[in-house]
Amino acid sequence: MKIVMLGAPGAGKGTQAKMIAAKYEIPHISSGDIFRMNIKNGTELGKKAKEYMDQGLLVPDELTVDLVIDRLSQDDCKKGCILDGFPRTIPQAEALAAALEARGDRLDYAINVDVPDENIVARMSGRRTCTGCGATYHIIYNPSKTGDTCETCGETLILRDDDKPETVQKRLSVYHEQTQPLIDFYDGQKILKTVDGTQDMNDVFAAIVRILEA
Ligand code: ADP
Ligand code: AMP
Repeated sequence: MKIVMLGAPGAGKGTQAKMIAAKYEIPHISSGDIFRMNIKNGTELGKKAKEYMDQGLLVPDELTVDLVIDRLSQDDCKKGCILDGFPRTIPQAEALAAALEARGDRLDYAINVDVPDENIVARMSGRRTCTGCGATYHIIYNPSKTGDTCETCGETLILRDDDKPETVQKRLSVYHEQTQPLIDFYDGQKILKTVDGTQDMNDVFAAIVRILEA
């Protein structure tokens, strides 16, 4: 099972992708997590990606496509995977389709987590991200039981720089311009499924499971 998660920044793609990955025992591949890991480790790629991420812009396709497609060729993806945050542009989606096709493979579902812009700023200003393992929480909707540290690894939780309201607005406009066209792209391929992302996260998850098990 190969799944792509679509939706605005803060729609809940990562939250749902982690739950799906755990239930179906497939890897969760987040391009944003890969970039943040590179930034943390001080790599050249991390330095370049940070310049774009801090401004709320997309990292150029040339730095993104091969990185994710290489990850997909690893053995643990043979039984499937869930992609979160990739593809984000039509050229990325085309490169992904070509790479899968070259292996006689294809995507099964593109799941669009639909949340209106009005809800996004509250979602993102309340998001807290673990500096150790990348786990995400929300100060109201999904607080950590251990306060401002991660329940899983104990490291500190932070507000991501790009989750500050001024950057969120930019990320939303970039989303509408460059990523939203993927909804029509995957609808045209008859693999698009849309779920109401304004529901409680367990209800969103139940709706996704119904789609995957239909
Ligand atoms: P994305 O991966 O799409 O950027 P996240 O999964 O990180 O989004 O979710 C953004 C924030 O909203 C996080 O703080 C998360 O805990 C919270 N969140 C996710 N899903 C829901 C939901 N259904 N209801 C309320 N808050 C949610
Ligand atoms: P995310 O963790 O998915 O919210 O991504 C955080 C940031 O990483 C985005 O705002 C982009 O700057 C960058 N990024 C992540 N995935 C991609 C991608 N597929 N293409 C371009 N930039 C990306």
